[in-house]
Amino acid sequence: MSRLSSAQAKSEMPQQSIARRSLSILGATGSIGKSTLDLVSRSPDAFEIIALTAQNNAVELAESAKRVGARLAVIGNEQQYGELKSLLSGTAIRVAAGPTSIAAAAAEPADCVVAAIVGAAGLEPTFEAVRQGRRLALANKECLVSAGAVFMTEVAQAGTELLPVDSEHSAAFQVIGDASPESIDKLILTASGGPFRTWDEARIAVATPEEALRHPNWSMGAKVTIDSATLMNKGLELIEAYHLFPVDTDQLGVVVHPQSIVHCLVSFSDGSVVAQLASPDMRTPIALSLSWPQRMVTPTKKLDLVALGSLTFEAPNEEHFPALRLAREALHRGATAPAVLNATNEVAVEAFLARRIPFPAIAQIVEQCLDVAESWGLVRHESRLRGILDVDAEARRLAHSMLDRYV
Ligand code: NAD
Ligand code: MG
Repeated sequence: MSRLSSAQAKSEMPQQSIARRSLSILGATGSIGKSTLDLVSRSPDAFEIIALTAQNNAVELAESAKRVGARLAVIGNEQQYGELKSLLSGTAIRVAAGPTSIAAAAAEPADCVVAAIVGAAGLEPTFEAVRQGRRLALANKECLVSAGAVFMTEVAQAGTELLPVDSEHSAAFQVIGDASPESIDKLILTASGGPFRTWDEARIAVATPEEALRHPNWSMGAKVTIDSATLMNKGLELIEAYHLFPVDTDQLGVVVHPQSIVHCLVSFSDGSVVAQLASPDMRTPIALSLSWPQRMVTPTKKLDLVALGSLTFEAPNEEHFPALRLAREALHRGATAPAVLNATNEVAVEAFLARRIPFPAIAQIVEQCLDVAESWGLVRHESRLRGILDVDAEARRLAHSMLDRYV
């Protein structure tokens, strides 16, 4: 096509021409869920909403289900079934409640399921979504952290198309493309460094939940925001990347980049380093997971590199933020060690948010749990989700017993 005719074709192109697809959103009231719904409401013709799920907020779930014309709304907390039912009475939207109904919603046929439940609670429904076998837009990183090998086997067996939503992994997915595994030298994830990047040890020791929840660049759910402050989030993301991409543990790196503009860099065997850049807005990676191989318009602020002026990079401070080291050790240990890391971290983060433990105790508790995990029989080979969930539950009990020492 000549330049001129391609310019004409461009001007005749509709603004947003992605193929229409059906979509379910697990965790529709969360940060990722709401960003997904925002994209849906900007391109209503592009999506047909099958199911929305949430744990607790029946009012918000009902409002969203009505707004996007969902066919099914499921609330995890069974005590809110009556409320959800009455909020949706007079509509054609089916209503259900409880964890089994969330898993059933995940299995409803849909072109794409967005897996955005936070924590290990997302494992069972996300596995269900994998088994229905079309596209999975994966935000729930715990599936890969706690059950990586089992999860990837299910994905391969079901022939599911897996699109990462986590911004660094969406970046890596775009950068790696069809590159051969042998051509990849190193995969480097960037970390903002979190709100305590420049704080000294004494100040970090007394950091409050409010301070830890004040992320400099990203707006996210509470759990992942605390993980960003401890750098555990980056540790979980290393494990995520290990399972998603053809790299070994020694090919994975982390660099602190406080502006959160570069999301991932891949260095190739010929010396090229290819990176993906975007303003820190989760709607960009979510949009890619929905529209790939096409791209859809998003309201993400366009990058202005001149206005930004400079992008800076530094090494992570593993003395102040030991969580990164703990995650790397769990990945090296393999078997169910990452599941122990994840479960004990979830318990410790909850305790910090409830003001039961100080900020540095989050990583200390995880480390103490990992130290005794073997003697508790928690580091073992599990080839089924059921076994992983057992380890998760046992690791939580262990973390609670450690917590009791702090209070
Ligand atoms: P969030 O806390 O804002 O929302 C979580 C959602 O899960 C809510 O809809 C909630 O109702 C639902 N939920 C909570 N507990 C549940 C349970 N027991 N059963 C069923 N549903 C339950 O979380 P988020 O920040 O949107 O994160 C979701 C996932 O995406 C996490 O795994 C997180 O690590 C990952 N992620 C988030 C971001 C981000 O910017 N928020 C970025 C990358 C990855
Ligand atoms: Mg991320």
